[in-house]
Amino acid sequence: MSEKLSFVSPTPNSPWGTYLQQVDRVIPYLGDLARWAETLKRPKRALIVDVPIEMDDGRIAHYEGYRVQHNMSRGPGKGGVRFHPDVTLEEVMALSAWMTVKTAAVNLPYGGAKGGIRVDPKKLSQKELEKVTRRYTSEIGIIIGPHTDIPAPDVNTNGQIMAWMMDTYSMNTGGTATGVVTGKPLHLGGSLGRVKATGRGVFVTGREAARRLGLDLRGARIAVQGFGNVGSVAAELFVEAGAIIVAVQDHTGTIVNDKGLDLAGLVPISRTAGGATAFQGGDVVPNAQFWDVQCDILIPAALEGQISAERAKKTTAKLVLEGANGPTVPEADDILAQRGVLVVPDVICNAGGVTVSYFEWVQDFSSFFWDEDEINVRLDRIMMNALNHIWDTADKHKITLRTATYAVACERILIARQERGLYP
Ligand code: GLU
Repeated sequence: MSEKLSFVSPTPNSPWGTYLQQVDRVIPYLGDLARWAETLKRPKRALIVDVPIEMDDGRIAHYEGYRVQHNMSRGPGKGGVRFHPDVTLEEVMALSAWMTVKTAAVNLPYGGAKGGIRVDPKKLSQKELEKVTRRYTSEIGIIIGPHTDIPAPDVNTNGQIMAWMMDTYSMNTGGTATGVVTGKPLHLGGSLGRVKATGRGVFVTGREAARRLGLDLRGARIAVQGFGNVGSVAAELFVEAGAIIVAVQDHTGTIVNDKGLDLAGLVPISRTAGGATAFQGGDVVPNAQFWDVQCDILIPAALEGQISAERAKKTTAKLVLEGANGPTVPEADDILAQRGVLVVPDVICNAGGVTVSYFEWVQDFSSFFWDEDEINVRLDRIMMNALNHIWDTADKHKITLRTATYAVACERILIARQERGLYP
């Protein structure tokens, strides 16, 4: 018989299991609100959809898609859509739950949601990609909407995919609903600063953490795993602040340069099919060596579960900036804390993306658009205020930044839950 008792019980070593442990750790700090904590361990609603499309060669292919609304106590669901061959319902549950915590941590008026399709978009033609996106959007159209649940880009999705999602939803509802998704192209109600926002938030929180640690960014050595929208933008901002990028790992492999990789050369090449390892200005080494590289700051900006106990034991980093969602397993978290390695957790570190998504959504509703300076000033302020509040909470209870972020966020979520009350 299967070990899985219900859809909320986790499979071993899964992101959902990681999330549940993170919630358990915060319960002692929730006081009377702990009575409501079970609500955090259950997604409000989960939809599984079949996404059939006719391929260019005439075959009919079926892909599985998901949209999970984890919690909507504080506002509509918010969270990205991921296209990846390994996506599962359980993974999307974890990702949606981290959105609930993240939006509450930075105090945006949202709940948490997430979506995904089990597909490798690199294997699809542009036409096939559009069909998959449109059919998926149509299928989840019964639960998304500008006031109910607002998707956005995530791993392997981008502005073009958001434009197709916006168009499909609008075709089905008979208007032009720009506010149904964020991360759209600029001339379709997108916001200035959205593409770089997640990387910028990683930099802003990382710079403050470094300052508090007494770690000078000038000459600081940084290793970055994942060199997409998050990792590459954060890397560029740290280099502007005087740091050097000594190692980059992406889906093609690992490239190192002890004197610092030249980002002006590396970034454009990393966007091509050859990836980061097609760049000539460094040595390509086996992937396992990434974790041995001498560095001050480690930025995991790829997928979940990358920092295992073993990797946590050997990293030389003093500071870990979680650009990815869920990159550190709980056992590794404990090891890093014991070793005095400071972790700025995903649910605050990478919240810059959803923060500018919020700005985009507000601008769409008011049909009044802000300039990029205004976006960045507001983003930096929200990130710094949130981080400072979390830091005070961590100092007060002598807990990690992760547990402190959960304490701040879960209190907000559960107060809203309690005030709304149970229906009926
Ligand atoms: N996918 C991003 C995240 O994980 C952004 C979500 C959004 O903008 O709604 O935070």
